[in-house]
Amino acid sequence: MEEKTILDGQKVSKDVKENLKERVLKLSAQGVTPCLATILVGDDPSSATYVRMKGNACEKLGILSKRIHLDASISTETLIETIQDLNNDKNVHGILLQHPVPAHIDERKAFEAIDIEKDVDGVTSLGYGQTALGFGVYPSCTPAAIMEIIDFYDIPVEGKNAVVVGRSPILGKPVSALLLNRNATVTTCHSKTKDLSEHLSKADIVVAAVGKPNFIQGSWLKEGAVVLDAGYNPGNIGDAHYDSCYEKASAITPVPGGVGPVTISMLLKHTVASAEKTVQ
Ligand code: NAP
Repeated sequence: MEEKTILDGQKVSKDVKENLKERVLKLSAQGVTPCLATILVGDDPSSATYVRMKGNACEKLGILSKRIHLDASISTETLIETIQDLNNDKNVHGILLQHPVPAHIDERKAFEAIDIEKDVDGVTSLGYGQTALGFGVYPSCTPAAIMEIIDFYDIPVEGKNAVVVGRSPILGKPVSALLLNRNATVTTCHSKTKDLSEHLSKADIVVAAVGKPNFIQGSWLKEGAVVLDAGYNPGNIGDAHYDSCYEKASAITPVPGGVGPVTISMLLKHTVASAEKTVQ
């Protein structure tokens, strides 16, 4: 890649969806309609928007969206019973519990109740372990999206230095594992990392997963680095300072229109793959 590339998430997402359309049609001919169940607990407006976007994206592709909205006051046990009902429903192929749930609920316990076969959002510890060991079926969707973008644009990974800034269970840790499985040399940085810019100055691939707007500065980067910005902060602002990173990078994801749209496509892809397993 000699010229500067804007890694266009809309384009990648469109490509993934085109492929999925054909797979959904094939499933339909076999009498199966993929179905994603989404569970929203409470009325947090951002969470409600995310769930609505995911449901709408399903429906546009012919995937059923079973939307469950539970009162904010429900107990962990009731939430788990709802999840178990969905585990037992053979017409449901994927289950998404929208994060975060209200503070009195044990979110980890609820995530763990999701059947591994239906964990299309990659939130169970079993799914994470399988991803880390290299045979995970449904890695969590944002890490999967980052790898999808890397592959769409043929970005070399093997032998490269990858620096992931952030180590959350849904993002930083699993994307570090996916890059390591592809033979990158991975450094995972976090809030206690000393001299972050020193690490970044050696990175061929940078994943920004910090949750802080405009945090990563272009001056910290190596000339020609590939920047994948998973950040999504209020006002559509990424975790990398776009203008300065653009100057240094050989390729960069914009925010919005980078990792975000591909993340939703990964959820659809995993749901379709789960439905396909029922007819194989
Ligand atoms: P998170 O759970 O808050 O984790 C943030 C990570 O950044 C933590 O590991 C934290 O370190 C690290 N960090 C904080 N300050 C740092 C610093 N000064 N230097 C280095 N590392 C630092 O966030 P998340 O859920 O992973 O999300 C990260 C970003 O991705 C957010 O902007 C979020 O909106 C976005 N996101 C996007 C999508 C999408 O679909 N595009 C999906 C999910 C999340 P410690 O572990 O030491 O605290």
